Amino acid sequence: MSMKEREIPFGRPWIGEEEKRAVLEVLEGPILTHGPKGHEFEKKFAEFIGGGTAVTTSSCMASLHLATMHFGFGPGDEVLVPAQTHVATVHAVELVGAKPVFVDCELKTGNIDLFDFEKKITAKTRGAIIVHFSGIPARMDRIMELASARGIKVIEDSALAIGARYKGIHTGLWGDAGCYSFYPVKHITTTEGGMFVSKNAETAKKVAHFRAFSVDRTHSERTIPGFYNVTGVGLNYRMGELQAALGVAQIDRIPEILRRRKSNFTRLKRGLLELDCGTVLDSEGPEQENSFYCLSLIMNGKWAARRNDLIFKLKAQKVGTSIYYPQPVPRMEYYSQKYGYNEKHFPNAARISDESIALPVGPHLNSEDMDYIVSSLKRALEG
Ligand SMILES: *Cc1c(COP(=O)(O)O)cnc(C)c1O
Repeated sequence: MSMKEREIPFGRPWIGEEEKRAVLEVLEGPILTHGPKGHEFEKKFAEFIGGGTAVTTSSCMASLHLATMHFGFGPGDEVLVPAQTHVATVHAVELVGAKPVFVDCELKTGNIDLFDFEKKITAKTRGAIIVHFSGIPARMDRIMELASARGIKVIEDSALAIGARYKGIHTGLWGDAGCYSFYPVKHITTTEGGMFVSKNAETAKKVAHFRAFSVDRTHSERTIPGFYNVTGVGLNYRMGELQAALGVAQIDRIPEILRRRKSNFTRLKRGLLELDCGTVLDSEGPEQENSFYCLSLIMNGKWAARRNDLIFKLKAQKVGTSIYYPQPVPRMEYYSQKYGYNEKHFPNAARISDESIALPVGPHLNSEDMDYIVSSLKRALEG
């Protein structure tokens, strides 16, 4: 198969005239932070996911940190986390002095292995952070069943899971809190930015204060300008109005973004399976509605050891790839030095890190791009 050379970036934010206009409008007005755009974004976001109270933050990491602080995890507590995730998930536990207890993942979805999850629950387990791996929703009914029976607080790291639903319920609305990311290559972007969501309005209200110095009233609530009180210790993890304006415009694009991602993923998966060189992480049934962040291909047999070589060969054909995630977190230097790392403990997480290639399916790409990725990989396998 010969195809004209294309350039396929792994990710590219979709910024149109609407976003540019929205940002300029903020710049022309008097309010640059803590204003109406932030509230509008929160309202629209909660509407999109179909529930909860949303609080804008400066990043998903900030949202996760706010969650672990809010639930009061600390020294002596254990919090279950996936071995296969972004470091932010684990840092949020480590930052409050609690102990991250790593759980291995399944090879079909990349989500935590529920048997390993259950096995690692101890009398010290106070919380769990569940990641919906590359947009494939975890089996939240079973997780909540295990957690609720023991009073374990569940935080859903939904950084890659906007549009992902399990049994019809959007990710982040099963647990005690949901955290989302608006980093440039994620589903929608505000440059940097995040959201914290909780079904419990009181939790959301407390976190909203906490992320703004724990000041007891906003500018508009102050009868004497400049006067406020402080009800506790706090942080500044706010999102500015420019970012919020971007977010408001981006939300309208989500349905089209999801449609394109799904169509690209479906076509790419079909083409890759014909090459018979690996397996594709995907949901296992219609109750798991994938948000298709990327397509992770786990190389089989002799290809597994040649993964990096294949990445170089794809790169030479201008196919952008990535690795989700580059190492099991317990193998990263900081965590392995602190807690030790045993090769045998997280075989599936290690397999995904060492033997998979994350391929792009974002809305900047079309079906011909998917065919180009397949033919480029075919060439890479042949040569
Ligand atoms: C990207 C990502 C994060 C971090 O998001 P930021 O908004 O950059 O802080 C956290 N968790 C997961 C699973 C991610 O993929």
